[in-house]
Amino acid sequence: MEFLEKPESRFFIGIAVALLSIAASIYVFFSKKPRERSCLDPEKFKEFKLVKRTQLNHDVAKFRFELPTPTSVLGLPIGHHVRCRGKDDKGEDVLKPYTPITLDSDVGYFELVVKMYPKGRMSHHFREMREGDYLAVKGPTGRFRYRANQVRALGMIAGGSGITPMFQVVRGILENPKDQTKVSLIYANTTYGDILLKEELDGFASEFPGRFRVYYVLSRPPADWSGGAGRVSRAMIESYCPSPAHDVKVLRCGPPPMNNAMAAHLDALGYKPDMQFQF
Ligand SMILES: Cc1cc2nc3c(=O)[nH]c(=O)nc-3n(C[C@H](O)[C@H](O)[C@H](O)COP(=O)(O)OP(=O)(O)OC[C@H]3O[C@@H](n4cnc5c(N)ncnc54)[C@H](O)[C@@H]3O)c2cc1C
Repeated sequence: MEFLEKPESRFFIGIAVALLSIAASIYVFFSKKPRERSCLDPEKFKEFKLVKRTQLNHDVAKFRFELPTPTSVLGLPIGHHVRCRGKDDKGEDVLKPYTPITLDSDVGYFELVVKMYPKGRMSHHFREMREGDYLAVKGPTGRFRYRANQVRALGMIAGGSGITPMFQVVRGILENPKDQTKVSLIYANTTYGDILLKEELDGFASEFPGRFRVYYVLSRPPADWSGGAGRVSRAMIESYCPSPAHDVKVLRCGPPPMNNAMAAHLDALGYKPDMQFQF
């Protein structure tokens, strides 16, 4: 070991050790799964470029935003949402929550489905957005956090654009082969054309018959309609949602009057507060 005593040998060994540790760090960094690199900041707005806008019906569009790299993920826990900042028709700042319909299994982009109300302030911003424009987003935020098998069965009652958080949770459950949760969704709209993500929901129901089912309710149904008609009733909830039990939960998300009516139905049917959740 005489050579170790020579200063030049110690110098070369030092260099070799330093090079090895740099190489190891580079290997660890690049071998990380892409999904570990999240793009959201809860404290700071970040700008995301709109790369595709698809009109789904007269007042709803799907917006696809690009993430910084093709392997980036948004980094949104299932059941959480983001806050978007835009300008209303008077040029004033407006901040509203939206739930991406994509998960962290979708890399390189995220998508929002947005219903644009004629007088809505943030609706104005989305109506004006064109491909190439940027949207300021921060997050994640939210009180509901999905965990696999946290309950035996989930009931869901959604109205209109209230489908977005449900859609995200349904996808999270069905994409996880270890999750055995059974999901029953009641989805209410005014007309047939207002039903959002119908193709995807029907696809889930036929692909996962024992785990997911959907019952559509229309307040103005077409003549040949075989789903529910009118408003979501207590009887519909009894038929389509899991009965009250310590290991079930019913989630709801819709316009405020619908949420209030559904809360009253659920209370009357015996669902305790810890068996209910409103997004
Ligand atoms: C957690 C969470 C997640 C959400 N995710 C989504 C989403 O993914 N996609 C989406 O489209 N929306 C979503 N929303 C609703 C969204 O945040 C806005 O409230 C909605 O886009 C309307 O905002 P606005 O500024 O355009 O309307 P505002 O200026 O607040 O309202 C103007 C008018 O619009 C009408 N209006 C507004 N909201 C509703 C409503 N819910 N039902 C009926 N009429 C209404 C009313 O006539 C109201 O007077 C979510 C809300 C929450 C709380």
